[in-house]
Amino acid sequence: MKARLNLIVLGPPGAGKGTQAKRLEERYGLAQISTGDMLRAEVAAGSAIGRQAGAIMQAGGLVPDETIIAMLGNRVDEPDCARGFILDGFPRTARQAAALDVMLAEHRLALDAVIELKVDDDALVERIAGRFTCARCAASYHDRFKQTRVPGVCDICGSTEFIRRPDDNRETVMARLAAYYGQTAPILPHYRDLGRLFPVDGMAPIDAVSTAIEGVLARLSQEL
Ligand code: AMP
Repeated sequence: MKARLNLIVLGPPGAGKGTQAKRLEERYGLAQISTGDMLRAEVAAGSAIGRQAGAIMQAGGLVPDETIIAMLGNRVDEPDCARGFILDGFPRTARQAAALDVMLAEHRLALDAVIELKVDDDALVERIAGRFTCARCAASYHDRFKQTRVPGVCDICGSTEFIRRPDDNRETVMARLAAYYGQTAPILPHYRDLGRLFPVDGMAPIDAVSTAIEGVLARLSQEL
C-alpha cells in the first residue's frame, strides 16, 4: 500500500460514508475529515458558524461554500493527516471541488481516489430514518439493521444513552437527497475525467463494501 492515501468518500446521505470512512481510518491510519461532524461540533459549541449552520442543516440544505471552505482551512495538512485523509461529506458542490483542487495543489498533495458509494433512494430513506448513535462513544446502530445486543445498552461502552441526529427524519432526508442530486452528483464527472472515480456497490453488507474499497485501493497501489 502507498505510504500516504488521500481519499474522498462520496455518495448520497445514508450511503455509509461515515461508516466506511471510520473503517478506512482504522485500517490505514488515515484521518477522517467529516464536515458534517465539524459542523455539528460548531452547533454544539454555539459558535458563529454553528448559529448560521444549525437551521440550514435542520432543513436538509447545504451550508454556504465560503463557510465550509473557511472552516476546513488547512485541515488536510494537520499532523494526524501524515498518512493521508478521508474526506467524508466534502466536497458537496462544484465550488467546493474547485477549492479542494487549489487546497491540494497548495500543499503539494495528490488525490488518490474518490470512492463513490452507490445506493438506491428507497434504501437510503429507510437507513437514515432508523439510525442512532451512542451518546458516549458514538458507536452507530440502526433500529432494524444493527440493533444493540442487549436492548438499550451500547455494545461497545455499556452506556444507556443514545442520540438521533435531528436531521435524520423522513422529511429532511428528501431535502438532503435533492441537495445531493442537484449539487453534489454533478461533481462526479470531474473526478471521472481525472481517472480518480471508483464506484462501489453501497447496497452490499457493510463488510462487503469495506472489502470492495480495500480491493480498489490495493489495485491502485499496484498501478503506481
Ligand atoms: P453529513 O453529516 O455529511 O450528512 O452532513 C450533515 C449536514 O451538514 C448536511 O445535510 C449539510 O446541511 C451540512 N454539510 C455537511 N458538509 C457540508 C458541505 N461540505 N457543504 C455544505 N453543507 C454541508
